Amino acid sequence: MNDQIAGRFAEWLRERGIGLSDEQLAQFETYFRELVEWNEKMNLTAITEREQVYVKHFYDSVSLSFFVPMAEVGSLADIGTGAGFPGIPLKIAYPHLSLTLVDSLNKRIRFLEHVADRLGLEGVTCIHARAEDAARKPELRDAFDLVTARAVARLPLLNELCLPFVKTGGRFVAMKGSDVTEEVGESGRSLRELGGELGKVHQFRLPLEEAERHLVEIRKVRRTPKAYPRKAGIPAKHPLV
Ligand code: SAM
Repeated sequence: MNDQIAGRFAEWLRERGIGLSDEQLAQFETYFRELVEWNEKMNLTAITEREQVYVKHFYDSVSLSFFVPMAEVGSLADIGTGAGFPGIPLKIAYPHLSLTLVDSLNKRIRFLEHVADRLGLEGVTCIHARAEDAARKPELRDAFDLVTARAVARLPLLNELCLPFVKTGGRFVAMKGSDVTEEVGESGRSLRELGGELGKVHQFRLPLEEAERHLVEIRKVRRTPKAYPRKAGIPAKHPLV
């Protein structure tokens, strides 16, 4: 791959200590093509310009690994993954991960199954469910080393949707945009009830337009009580604030 967009993407990641092989770069390019093609048939993303996809979807997704040592992570769950962000870019960059993608929209799940197959990714499970229902399945509850979600909900709600999936001792990292102070300030009750403890809030800027991003790291310190998550729809209607 020696075109400028892919070349710069590889260089930006190399500066962060992440090396991608030609095969991995080819997987990112195939993912980009499939995303744009399927986006004509269904609503997957508002971002379709190639460089924008590489920066705002691919680089942004992989940024989780700037702050979490992926070598220590065996299992990753991405809740409300949509078109596969951040889960699929992380799986391309870190093929050892056992990845579980959860989304409540079946069309998106079909796209993800197709992409995982097209890219030859092994160890990817796509689950069509509301997070509130999926978190009640014994094989998914308290099961993951790392759980993440990008652009799904505000932190108090997100804690209820994501923390039940995390192993005690594992972490949940919420991938957020510009300002998180208010959301973090509102998250005390949900953290207490769900067994989480606030860790670091990491910050970086995307290449090119330099938009700010924040990643909120939360440790699971206790098992989530059986009462959570509440029935599908209730957490959004009555967030734990
Ligand atoms: N994470 C992706 C990204 O960053 O591009 C998608 C973000 S999109 C704005 C939010 C996604 O969360 C949608 O695909 C939606 O179907 C899913 N979602 C919202 N609430 C959910 C829930 N309770 N359980 C599972 N998925 C949910």
